[in-house]
Amino acid sequence: MARYIFITGGVVSSLGKGLASAALGALLQARGYTVRLRKLDPYLNVDPGTMSPFEHGEVFVTDDGAETDLDLGHYERFTGVSARRTDSISSGRIYSNVLEKERRGAYLGKTIQVIPHVTNEIKDFLSIGDDEVDFMLCEIGGTVGDIEGLPFFEAIRQFTHERPRGECILMHLTLLPYLAASGELKTKPTQHSVKELQSIGLAPDVLVCRSEHPIPEKERAKIALFCNVRPDAVIPAYDLKSIYEAPMAYHRAGLDRAVLDAFQISPAPRPDMSRWEDVMDRLDNAEGEVRVAVIGKYTQLEDAYKSIAEALTHGGMANRVRVRAEWIDSEIFEKEDPAPYLENFQAILVPGGFGERGTEGMIAAAKYAREKHVPYMGICLGMQMAVIEAARDLAGMPDAGSEEFDHESGKTRFTPVVYHLKEWVQGNHKVERKVTDDKGGTMRLGAYTAILAPDSNVARVYGATEIEERHRHRYEVDASYREELEKAGLRFSGMSPDGRLPEIVEVEGHPWFIGVQFHPELKSKPFAPSPLFADFIRAAKDGDRLV
Ligand code: GLN
Repeated sequence: MARYIFITGGVVSSLGKGLASAALGALLQARGYTVRLRKLDPYLNVDPGTMSPFEHGEVFVTDDGAETDLDLGHYERFTGVSARRTDSISSGRIYSNVLEKERRGAYLGKTIQVIPHVTNEIKDFLSIGDDEVDFMLCEIGGTVGDIEGLPFFEAIRQFTHERPRGECILMHLTLLPYLAASGELKTKPTQHSVKELQSIGLAPDVLVCRSEHPIPEKERAKIALFCNVRPDAVIPAYDLKSIYEAPMAYHRAGLDRAVLDAFQISPAPRPDMSRWEDVMDRLDNAEGEVRVAVIGKYTQLEDAYKSIAEALTHGGMANRVRVRAEWIDSEIFEKEDPAPYLENFQAILVPGGFGERGTEGMIAAAKYAREKHVPYMGICLGMQMAVIEAARDLAGMPDAGSEEFDHESGKTRFTPVVYHLKEWVQGNHKVERKVTDDKGGTMRLGAYTAILAPDSNVARVYGATEIEERHRHRYEVDASYREELEKAGLRFSGMSPDGRLPEIVEVEGHPWFIGVQFHPELKSKPFAPSPLFADFIRAAKDGDRLV
């Protein structure tokens, strides 16, 4: 049975709990253990799939097609363990399961209550797969004291009691604010948040203290005393230049040691940090810089394209260059010529998105990249816009567009080279959808196979002719335009195994112009960069662009 590590946060939100959890997962792996990471989110959405990227950042999609919190992306990037649908749960999902059972009559005769029905549902979820790994790391979203979080904390309390003694520990992250006027780090908020935990029957075994200033030994001892943890289990966490320093930094600060101590595992297996030493070496010893323009819709919020930002960094690491990504709102190119903006970049990326706003600007950027021979990667919506651009400018279809935009506006304005997908094949079964279906969880989601043309650029990039990448979209490029578009120079170089759905397009005669219907950024890791991102950055670095 797995040992459990619960990770909670106090004092303020955005302390980097997800990152600390992911780094701890990586450190336990470095000591030879197997891990799985889970996220428990207190909000009432059933999953983040319907939340705007402005609200909640990127939606991370798993191989098995769950739309999850972006922290699962961190977990995968640090541990390489593919997340599953059962690694992400929200209060909304828990309540909807409980209510569905109630309607089915599963609790017949009983009054349904938070304790025990909701907490049982949470505990059942926590236990899934507990015989598969050595350590299960479960992060609770939000901050201790939040109303929505209470059932989760109560479930953890019960769970810890029901498991054999010493098999569950709690790691709590807090902030030590610095008062410039008195030149002091303040420990009181940390003490209060630990009190809050204690009042609901939980006590931290390890305290991770975020601080912008070095934490003096005296303060560490004080925190240990007042918060009832061992002094060497008070782990300082300082700001880092790169998130990929986190495993090494937490290791040096003694986090993995403190965690194994709390489980009374001794002697602890020696860590092998070579993977993270190599990652740090690539980050620290990069030569030169590549500038990439990312032209999208959600450019105001950094987290909205989290995995893309990380995959670009990984691509840079693969080529030992620094990647400087600049996020440009595509709507700008609906009013202004893209040339003066884009001539300073070695590569152009148009990421995914939903709705019509800004898409004409993406089409203008794709056109610029195609004509100027600048490396272009189009991801999902970015591929669809590249197809529309080629249809309009190369294949003589001035009205080419996406059905998504006609559905949105309620008018028929376009010839839909991108259309609403109503049925497709997933594994051995057929999936069917209607335009009027619910929005949540109804897209083409998760890992699908693509078959690549052997002599294509993309087959060279992957070094394979069969790949699997993750999808998240409702609309699809219409393969019935294939012949027309291929004659005009846009090759359909990757298709679904049944040959019906275009997965990849590339512009013939262009040094690097690839559009993909899937999201390669989701599987990229610092120690195993996405082949597409690695080669995209290589092309940008080697490129001599026509200006
Ligand atoms: N809006 C497009 C679709 O649903 C693209 C989605 C995406 O970029 N993830 O097909």
